[in-house]
Amino acid sequence: MSKSKHYTGLIERYRDRLPVSATTRIISLNEGNTPLIQLQNIPRLLGKAVNIYVKFEGLNPTGSFKDRGMTMAVTKAVEAGSKAIICASTGNTSASAAAYAARAGIKAFVIIPEGKIALGKLAQTLMYDATIIQIKGNFDKGMALVKEVADHAPVTIVNSINPFRIDGQKTAAFEIIDDLGDAPDYHCLPVGNAGNITAYWKGYNEYTTSTDSHPAVTSKRPVMCGYQAAGAAPFLAGKMIDNPETIATAIRIGHPQSWDKAWSAQKESGGWFDKFSDDEILAAQKMLSQYEGIFCEPASATSLAGACHDIRSGKIPEGSTIVCTLTGVGLKDPDTAIKQCVDSQPLTIEAELTAVKKAILDTM
Ligand SMILES: *Cc1c(COP(=O)(O)O)cnc(C)c1O
Repeated sequence: MSKSKHYTGLIERYRDRLPVSATTRIISLNEGNTPLIQLQNIPRLLGKAVNIYVKFEGLNPTGSFKDRGMTMAVTKAVEAGSKAIICASTGNTSASAAAYAARAGIKAFVIIPEGKIALGKLAQTLMYDATIIQIKGNFDKGMALVKEVADHAPVTIVNSINPFRIDGQKTAAFEIIDDLGDAPDYHCLPVGNAGNITAYWKGYNEYTTSTDSHPAVTSKRPVMCGYQAAGAAPFLAGKMIDNPETIATAIRIGHPQSWDKAWSAQKESGGWFDKFSDDEILAAQKMLSQYEGIFCEPASATSLAGACHDIRSGKIPEGSTIVCTLTGVGLKDPDTAIKQCVDSQPLTIEAELTAVKKAILDTM
């Protein structure tokens, strides 16, 4: 163990709970260690005595939680001698894969749905210099293609069907317990492919299990609440759907890859799935920015939309501690943010003192 206090990423921090050895070359951008921020104004607006925390995963190196899984997936790909990785992506996986491939000095191929990638994610992936393959089809079609091509070309898949992704991502649950001193009562998160809900559930379980090398950290596990966009809600339909639609492009997925594992998380935790309209999702995104100063991308706000709905209805009772994962940062999707704020466009005035003074006094 290094004596340095300098944080060097989640593999180093949780090395004894991850499948790496002393000789593994770690590919890291110091991901993880994201802030758990307690909301101060939204509980008051709800009029409910609840402790809501957000796990701001948008503060990872490429701006989403995908980095937690990618540090593990790329570390293991390189360890196995792989020279190239591939993924299908709604945007964040491609940005993350491209960054970690650059760091490792290997090649990244990313398959994205044409025209359905948020601007920030595309900009990142271009800058990290991945080979971008746009398809005339949605994420689910891209995912099917990736699985096929990996059988025919020397590339490692780094989508969340790669088990090392789940192992990296489970560390977010460890961090939450380490920060709070125990598991929360409820954990709320957006669900697309359902890799993340699977990973959190795995992490929470591992902290309640004692092994030869680890005593159990806690006996408590949270209730898992998975929220989807109304137009892309296969877990609510009870079956895969073919033409998912939502403004929250990161969860515009109709064929979730971790279907069975997500159902297990729901059942074993006594949790539930629910769905919210694009308007409800965007309202939650705006509320979080406006009342707490925290800007996440639309898909991420689905967790807060769901939590607020279930707190209001009493399904999540007063006195509860709730953690909402904010999966990605708001700057990923500037277009949606600006379109949403048409009523508060900048004032344009003459560049003189009286005009500025008038503008201020008119608005106060
Ligand atoms: C990938 C992603 C999700 C969905 O996570 P899954 O593991 O696919 O359920 C949600 N929000 C953002 C911002 C994402 O990038």
